[in-house]
Amino acid sequence: MKRVILGAAGVLVVLATAGVIALRHGRHRFLPPVTVRPNLMQVHNSFVDFCGIRAGKRVVLIDTGVDPSGRALDGLLAALGARRDDVSDVFLTHGHGDHVAAATLCPRARVHIGIRDADMAAHTAPTVPGRARLIGRLIPVAAVHATDGLIDRAELTLPDSERLLALPLPGHTPGSFAYLWSGVLFVGDSIQVEGGRLMPADPGFSVDAAENRRSLATLRQSLRGAEVQWICTGHQGCVTALDDQKHDRLDELIERVSMKVRP
Ligand SMILES: [Zn+2]
Repeated sequence: MKRVILGAAGVLVVLATAGVIALRHGRHRFLPPVTVRPNLMQVHNSFVDFCGIRAGKRVVLIDTGVDPSGRALDGLLAALGARRDDVSDVFLTHGHGDHVAAATLCPRARVHIGIRDADMAAHTAPTVPGRARLIGRLIPVAAVHATDGLIDRAELTLPDSERLLALPLPGHTPGSFAYLWSGVLFVGDSIQVEGGRLMPADPGFSVDAAENRRSLATLRQSLRGAEVQWICTGHQGCVTALDDQKHDRLDELIERVSMKVRP
């Protein structure tokens, strides 16, 4: 019996080790970047998605993926006809390592993050929750020292004079933010796509799932009438706001979470 248990434990250790090696090796992989809409491209890096916006001569990044060597970043920038030097701003949706890995590689970029996630990204506070911390240990990334901490809803001007709206969306992490640019809402891990429907953040990887639902319930108020045509997520790519039946996916999500947050 003891032998069987030891054998099974040995197999588990081998499988876990193989899994970690595959995860670390796979983090450099990326698919050819795709155009979401004019001046916006998205790249799938291992198990994470991130985006680049062409803003005149400069490029603005929304998240930077899981590859600290920057291969996925360089692939995205090449598709946009740009280099690391051309990146003016990096907007991070939250401080989890799988979304910030290449944030330190653009020497001229200002790095923006929700102030409540700044210490987590800088490795001066532990990654939360525990499951995200475990992933961070298995596939470690460099500390990211943000230049700009976002506190509240803010309207920012990009290098080509277009506006970017920063919207606090706490819950997945304390400092999670969504960004709206030209009708595209970048939500990181605060919204997922499952079977074509929008869903709240994965509770297993979120600090406060109830707070995530409360944030989502008031998202239309935060948008203050700004139109959303696309939703870009951190792991399931971008979807149009309207589904095949012309129903608004975001309204449907907000209606669903609002029923749950009512007292
Ligand atoms: Zn996350």
